Amino acid sequence: MDDKKLEKLVALCKRRGFIYPGSEIYGGLSGTWDYGPMGSLLKKNIKDVWWKDIVQLRDDVVGLDGAILMNPQVWVASGHVDAFTDPLVECKSCHLRFRADKEEEILDHQNSHNDTKIEWTTPQKFNLLVKSYLGVVEGAQLEVFLRGEITQGVMANFKNVIDSTRVKPPFGIAQIGKAFRNEITPGNFTFRSREFEQMELQYFIKPEVEAGRICFEYWKKFWMDWYLGLGINKDNLRFKDHEDGERAHYAVAATDLEYQAPWGWAEVLGVHHRGDWDLKQHQQHSGQNLQYTDSQSGISFLPWDIESSIGVDRTALFILLDSYRESEGRVFLKLHPKLAPLKAAVFPLLPNKPELVEKARQVYLDLKSEMMVGWDDRGNIGKRYASQDEVGTPFCLTVDFQSLEDNTLTVRDRDTGTQERLKIDSLKDYLSTKING
Ligand code: ATP
Repeated sequence: MDDKKLEKLVALCKRRGFIYPGSEIYGGLSGTWDYGPMGSLLKKNIKDVWWKDIVQLRDDVVGLDGAILMNPQVWVASGHVDAFTDPLVECKSCHLRFRADKEEEILDHQNSHNDTKIEWTTPQKFNLLVKSYLGVVEGAQLEVFLRGEITQGVMANFKNVIDSTRVKPPFGIAQIGKAFRNEITPGNFTFRSREFEQMELQYFIKPEVEAGRICFEYWKKFWMDWYLGLGINKDNLRFKDHEDGERAHYAVAATDLEYQAPWGWAEVLGVHHRGDWDLKQHQQHSGQNLQYTDSQSGISFLPWDIESSIGVDRTALFILLDSYRESEGRVFLKLHPKLAPLKAAVFPLLPNKPELVEKARQVYLDLKSEMMVGWDDRGNIGKRYASQDEVGTPFCLTVDFQSLEDNTLTVRDRDTGTQERLKIDSLKDYLSTKING
């Protein structure tokens, strides 16, 4: 892999409005990022495709949008107050802190001190939950946590969902939302951030060993196919199963889907067989009966949960890395049209010919009512193509003099650079087929 690829992508993201360092005008805030005009569209498209595939197109999944702030007891019950920790070591020379389990980071830091041998403190447990305070009276404020994962919103609402809908196992509850972690060493661009977004599916099944195994394998395959369907190169994806001793406190079985990032294989998502850990814990701590009762057999049970937990920001980052191309002097993002921030850009061939501008404007406004479309009338056509290539716009549409005669325009393909002439009347159908496949 091009060892400057990440650097180039970071620069492109800033220059073209995908991702900016958080609070930059104040010197930044480590581990936070802001998504610009292009990045916010890319992220929204990822979430929309996910939601459509998981909630809209399936009969067995319902959605949820839980609160970020929850009763602190939730985090006691889920084990996060006790066990959501990373081992932390501090360099005794410069007092920077690192995760003791990240060997490469420790080694890099050792190297940054040249030949001086570093002394490290003994590893200490460091809780990743971010604290905040609610209430107006100083001293009587309630200490709360910004959620460290979005999962617990689903668990705390499990009873509400079964009581207010007709779901029955196997069924899933899907959610997308922000999570916060006091990461010790944020880095690798957005990969490890302190504020990030997750897309999660908690899929509840009957507590049966074989059903659990089959369901776990089903979701593994599902996610691999999902990322391949978005155009990610197969060679850059692999599963890494968690061995005994590596798994989180709640997991019966766990695997990570990893992407081959410039800094090595890196987790995109986790599929976790959580058993009935969460529901059992919340049942105990809340005193509420969280069992599901089968209306036909009358049998009650705590379902098992096969969780898929996916990072939106990591997905966006890896999609950007995977789509980055340099070819014959041009840079382009080979984004799946579903994910591209702009589906097309419309140009009048010459900006100083009002009849061309007017016709192009009509095409632009007509398309804009149905999809995100760009407009450009600056410079020459070559520069406009280059500008759209960099943000991954799959189609550039140019209105020229022939358009005035026969109501056609040229469609230029981002990936091949080839052009074809198309009737303006058939443009929407053409784009919709290309975008939706
Ligand atoms: P890691 O080992 O990289 O710290 P994790 O195993 O703690 O990740 P999970 O708790 O399984 O991660 O979270 C589920 C998903 O949420 C991850 O697969 C990842 O995509 C995303 N995620 C977790 N932590 C972060 C973070 N700090 N920044 C961005 N995304 C994150």
